[in-house]
Amino acid sequence: MANIISGKELAEEIKAELKLKIDELKRKGKTPGLATILVGKSPASIIYVRNKGLACESLGIYSEQYNLDENITQEDLVSLIHKLNQEDKIDGILVQLPLPKHLDEMNILASISPDKDVDGFHFYSVGRFFCEKDYNNMKKNKLFLPATPYGIMEMLIRKNIKLEGANAVVLGRSNIVGKPIAMLLLSANATVTICHSKTQDLANICKNGDILIAAIGKPKFVKQDMVKEGVVVIDVGINRVDDKIVGDVDFDEVSKKASLITPVPGGVGPMTITMLMVNTVVSAERHLNEG
Ligand code: NAP
Repeated sequence: MANIISGKELAEEIKAELKLKIDELKRKGKTPGLATILVGKSPASIIYVRNKGLACESLGIYSEQYNLDENITQEDLVSLIHKLNQEDKIDGILVQLPLPKHLDEMNILASISPDKDVDGFHFYSVGRFFCEKDYNNMKKNKLFLPATPYGIMEMLIRKNIKLEGANAVVLGRSNIVGKPIAMLLLSANATVTICHSKTQDLANICKNGDILIAAIGKPKFVKQDMVKEGVVVIDVGINRVDDKIVGDVDFDEVSKKASLITPVPGGVGPMTITMLMVNTVVSAERHLNEG
């Protein structure tokens, strides 16, 4: 039976470190601030945004939440973002994705000032971390890494998983999980294979992975016979089945073969929110130091 990587516990560990930094910032007269923007009434998005607000509250981060009508125009949304770009008490701006179809997601994300792009989806943030070859430098230079992949990297590193030279298989190639986690693993010197819905012979590719990241949104897709003995499994999937949340990995089966595995819930999810808080605090420190 595999050991469990508890995202919940690691997130608590990181939040304790973060709390010290927030207290220090407050002593210097700066309270980190995050603005979240929710467009429409998607139940999942409502929960995600609420949880981000609660995380801010528990850490003493100032937060503002904007709940906007699903028919809001591109111009009105961009003008709210421009206003928040100018506000000193706001260090980070997060637009909850996905947005309704009539809005141009890329342009909206691009209207966030890069110095407040704590979700790491602005072209500038993406370009910066794609150009940086070394994960340690990304951390040293305090880049805004996208929260979910950043959380996965912190889990692997804090659990002392050897990344250099490891074969890492990433299932999924989305802009928010698959592609960025592949780049981050590469920057930590893993050899990375990215799979998607058109990949041939997926099971055999998975079997070659020392590390397997599943981010496809298909409940219990990864089975025991698709993984190598001793594999480290990070399950990013969040799928609702019969009123229960399950991952992309068949946990009961795969945990018999894996050396380490994340549960769903309680794995990647808590790390994602925590890394958003980390980015917000980094932004506040930068705003304090650079004025
Ligand atoms: P997405 O944008 O829908 O992308 C899914 C990816 O999976 C696509 O690249 C797709 O390939 C690939 N895929 C779909 N079916 C496949 C199959 N049978 N075999 C191989 N690849 C397949 O999803 P996402 O936003 O990356 O999210 C993925 C999952 O992670 C979802 O369950 C989501 O809810 C969850 N998630 C969790 C967190 C967290 O904090 N825990 C954060 C973000 C997302 P194509 O490109 O070829 O279509």
